[in-house]
Amino acid sequence: MKTIGLIGGMSWESSLEYYRIINEHVKERLGGLHSAECILYSVDFEKVEKLQHAGKWRQLAELMTSIALKLQETGADGIAICSNTMHKVAEEVRESLKIPLIHIVDATAVEIKREGLKKMALLGTRFTMEDEFYRRRLKEKHGINAIIPGETDREKIHRIIYSELCKGIVKQSSKRETVRIIRRLAARGAEGVILGCTEIPILVKQEDAVIPLFNTTEIHAKAAAEFILS
Ligand code: GLU
Repeated sequence: MKTIGLIGGMSWESSLEYYRIINEHVKERLGGLHSAECILYSVDFEKVEKLQHAGKWRQLAELMTSIALKLQETGADGIAICSNTMHKVAEEVRESLKIPLIHIVDATAVEIKREGLKKMALLGTRFTMEDEFYRRRLKEKHGINAIIPGETDREKIHRIIYSELCKGIVKQSSKRETVRIIRRLAARGAEGVILGCTEIPILVKQEDAVIPLFNTTEIHAKAAAEFILS
């Protein structure tokens, strides 16, 4: 079995999900008492969130790289960054590593292509929805187009993520709001929605939505588990 190095704590609410899904997947595949060989480096999210909102991405790239290198030195055979947003600096991290980085966009694109979908909607933090890094990779590397909600809806989703979900607060009113946003995106022609924030799947489930949802936490965690087993 290979060992996966997880950069988590962004937030720890979703890292819990990663830990559960990776272990469940390994158990399902190998049976018995098997569980995943993994090393979790969990950050203080307050520090990360402050740097994100101050636009200090250079510093964040350095922070993520130094953690990834520590995991590599400790024996990790591959790295997974447990946050969509922090993939904004994934290329810088990958360049400094000798081991592979399991990219959340690539893992998600595999699943979208399996379903034969071309026009997606993307929900996530403002950084993920508005900055180029996520949609560009979907488009240029995988030929997948992704639309995003309008300004007001983007602001609502961003607030729900940082003020509620990352603090472990799950509100029915926010769930209803997110479901309404998904409906609006479907009406604009989205064939499916990328839940491009690792906390959103805690709030909305497939049964709440009118179109297929792509849970990036589950997809990425399973890709990490497959890497362990490869
Ligand atoms: N976990 C979230 C994501 O997948 C947001 C928290 C963060 O900014 O890292 O984007």
